[in-house]
Amino acid sequence: QAKHFGKNCYKVFDETVKREVDEKVEIELGIGECLRNNKFELFFQPLFNVQQGRVTNVEALLRTKSSALSKFNIFQIIQTAEITGQILEIDQWVIREACRSIQRINEHMEDPLHISVNISALHIMQQDFVKNIKTILEETGVEPGWIDLEITETSLMESFDLNIAKLFELKELGISLHLDDFGTGYSSLNYLNRLPIDHVKIDKSFVDKMLQSEKDSKMVETIIALSHNIGLQVVAEGVEHEDQFELLASYQCELIQGYYISKPVNYETIIRFIQNQNINHMSI
Ligand code: C2E
Ligand code: MG
Ligand code: MG
Ligand code: MG
Repeated sequence: QAKHFGKNCYKVFDETVKREVDEKVEIELGIGECLRNNKFELFFQPLFNVQQGRVTNVEALLRTKSSALSKFNIFQIIQTAEITGQILEIDQWVIREACRSIQRINEHMEDPLHISVNISALHIMQQDFVKNIKTILEETGVEPGWIDLEITETSLMESFDLNIAKLFELKELGISLHLDDFGTGYSSLNYLNRLPIDHVKIDKSFVDKMLQSEKDSKMVETIIALSHNIGLQVVAEGVEHEDQFELLASYQCELIQGYYISKPVNYETIIRFIQNQNINHMSI
């Protein structure tokens, strides 16, 4: 009886593992196709600057046009690409495309916007990471001051000192650094002071809980105050409601990102969005 039960367990386990492996292979093939046939695309999500009352930044977010990948979300695709190593080629494409896009966007702008680009841990670990970024900046001729790189806490933990040295080199070039998903990783206050970052990006999970209890809103208020006290600015991500926006603004949070401002949209739509706000002096 027990043996029989055990066998069934193995079978269920086998099938789950098999399905997961099949999915990974399917995603890997899909990514390969996207890279070869230029089927990736960038979407842009605006970041609203509370003090200036306008959008000053956009985040570049990867999307795919391939029907082979349509049933997977971008996070699954990125995770698989990190296992297969394809993320290196993806990152390369994303950075170059983001540089080109911000060049074009800023042709329309009196005050140039910044673009945030997500950088994967595997890329940071490469020996030629900094050189790579330099090369793309030179090739595209983009102003380094327009580029903000988003890195996560966890991506820095392995070879911490070496990674910090790389980040300092990037800062030297004039690039800004944002610490993404803050609060979800190790969040050691020991090292926050040692990172050459400009912005802390409070993770959506904190913003979600903010209206639920006073404890949760105090937490966000304190992260913002702490950041300000050590000279950092703050972005809040995942802001969906007016109440969240108002509360964050009252805490002096500099930048607000989320569906309340806009979902990520394609190039044409972000251009229209920015042009409209210039005409209307969009006030929220
Ligand atoms: P992230 O960098 O933390 O990006 C923010 C994610 O939150 C985006 O999901 C965005 O669409 C979503 N978001 C923003 N505001 C709201 C909101 O108000 N409500 C809700 N429900 N969601 C909101 P997305 O585009 O699916 O990206 C997921 C993750 O995939 C990103 O998290 C990032 O870690 C990774 N990723 C996306 N694009 C790239 C890329 O080009 N390169 C790399 N290396 N990673 C990327
Ligand atoms: Mg990000
Ligand atoms: Mg984030
Ligand atoms: Mg996040």
